[in-house]
Amino acid sequence: MPEQMPYISIVIPVYNEEETLEELYRRLTNALDLLNKSYEIIFTNDGSKDRSSQILQEFHQRRPNQIRVIEFSGNFGQHMAIMAGFERIRGEIIVTLDADLQNPPEEIVKLIEASEAGHDVVNTYRKNRQDRWSRRILSKAHNKMRSLLIPHLQMIDEGCMLRAYRRRIVDLMASTGEVNTFIPALALSYAVNPTEIAVDHEARFAGQSNYTFYRLIRYNFDLVTNFSLFPLQIFTFLGMFVSFASFIFVIFLAVRRVIVGGDAEGVFTLFAILFFLLGIVLLGLGIVGEYIGRIYQEVRKRPRFVIQKILE
Ligand code: UDP
Ligand code: MG
Repeated sequence: MPEQMPYISIVIPVYNEEETLEELYRRLTNALDLLNKSYEIIFTNDGSKDRSSQILQEFHQRRPNQIRVIEFSGNFGQHMAIMAGFERIRGEIIVTLDADLQNPPEEIVKLIEASEAGHDVVNTYRKNRQDRWSRRILSKAHNKMRSLLIPHLQMIDEGCMLRAYRRRIVDLMASTGEVNTFIPALALSYAVNPTEIAVDHEARFAGQSNYTFYRLIRYNFDLVTNFSLFPLQIFTFLGMFVSFASFIFVIFLAVRRVIVGGDAEGVFTLFAILFFLLGIVLLGLGIVGEYIGRIYQEVRKRPRFVIQKILE
């Protein structure tokens, strides 16, 4: 039995953040020390190729009782890095944040207060968002699309990772064993009394975002396929509608043939309609593929991440 369980667990995924870590350490420990509550910080090094691993190791040596480090054997992604932390937390209130200092550690106090006020999930939205305009527009589009496709998921901003959860929620999330999951959405599906508060946002302290346009799109697919069957269901309705419309069209043509006679013109219109429908069919196939691919990943039951070593 460890002498004392910490009250707060901070979980931070790290991928190539060598330039930021020292400043993160300074601001984070300052902010947490001010709270006067026991805490632990769990860093997951998600296969960084820079010096992040050595730096984290040194943090652990500085505060061996408070700082724990999980080393992945490769890059398994931000959400898996957080999951690995979730599997090992000891605290009662769990806070996640990014390592790049886009989530100011000084805001943690607000989350703790909201959590102590009885909210089992404290979601956040970023005010004064400090990202490139292209990224902001993409985020807006994401959030819009997500609220259309998954209306039961009530959140303003899905992308902000500075969030707090009670232990019960985190244990539930850790027990799912899902591969392509999206943590804020998963948490919300278990929440009894969630809230959403505004937090500050800063520009990246150093380096660049790890998310390319492509990766962001993949992420959004993860979110939608994991929490909604709506994209599949749209196609059932679309299929019904198109079948019905073509049925009417066939009857119309048959009647026309009897009254006016055969008709061989309008070939290109026909092509246009055909290509349009073909496009829809391909899209539908792609969407079915997105689901099947994920089912495949789940049933293969490969480990969702591989831990090389743990410092604690
Ligand atoms: N991250 C990670 N694994 C990855 C990509 C990112 O652990 O494969 C971490 C990264 O170090 C940071 C957080 O996830 O702490 C958010 O990443 P980033 O800042 O690149 O994303 P953005 O803020 O642009 O959404
Ligand atoms: Mg960032």
